[in-house]
Amino acid sequence: MLIDTHSHLHFAKFNDDRSEVHSRMAEFDVKTITVGTAINTSRNAILYADQHPDTWASVGYHPEHVTSEHEDEDEIGSKDEPFDINIMEELVKSSPRVLAIGECGLDYHRINEDCSDVEKGKADQQKVFQDQIDLAAKLDKALIVHMRDAEEDMLNMIKKARTDHPNLRITMHSFTSTWKQAQALLDLECFLGIGGIVTFKPRKTTEQEDILSSIVKNMPLDKILVETDCPWLAPVPVRGERNEPTHVRHTAQFIADIKGITYEEICKITTENAQKCFKCEFK
Ligand SMILES: [Zn+2]
Repeated sequence: MLIDTHSHLHFAKFNDDRSEVHSRMAEFDVKTITVGTAINTSRNAILYADQHPDTWASVGYHPEHVTSEHEDEDEIGSKDEPFDINIMEELVKSSPRVLAIGECGLDYHRINEDCSDVEKGKADQQKVFQDQIDLAAKLDKALIVHMRDAEEDMLNMIKKARTDHPNLRITMHSFTSTWKQAQALLDLECFLGIGGIVTFKPRKTTEQEDILSSIVKNMPLDKILVETDCPWLAPVPVRGERNEPTHVRHTAQFIADIKGITYEEICKITTENAQKCFKCEFK
């Protein structure tokens, strides 16, 4: 069994061939967590998980929705329901198939374009993230963290989260930062979610130790989760195609090769890690 710990399988890009996607998941023994990014997409994630035994759900509010008016075609309607932690709490409590809060976090990548007052934009994202950290702790759910261009503030918030909630289970989704950041997060007992990007050729300007495959090589096996973030970020050899949960096997194989272990071993280890992180047997 392999657990794709981060997908958006309930999004519209799968509308045309859902049953085939689920058949392939059965064929390759892949299970997944489909992740919400706003109130409406979180509600839909739960409805979806309730109908599909190979899929669990996460309820979250993405940081970009806090500061940006942009709406992806898969997230139409997300702007109609502003962030409301009480509604999110009700959603989480509505189904035992909700395993996590997220994706939530900090994303300053476009904050200069999106916000006339950048400092206020950052503060707004931090408030929404903090509410979700506290909700995850309160309801004993895992925290799925999205981070882009916000290394320092993220580390400070994760440090505070670890102090406030020593038992909080945290995964850094689609980790792509530096080795230094990885070490700091590992010291704070975070899991690192490794996606298809690990199979991509690194940028020439990236320091050797910061290349994602080097980070994976040097990090402990018991902190690795595998994920697709599908429909985006398909790994080599299907790079550029629409991604789907079964493609997590390519990422798993790539990591097994880096680590010098077998495919069966990486499946077993990352499944055990996912079971620990999400407190779920995935059966
Ligand atoms: Zn995602």
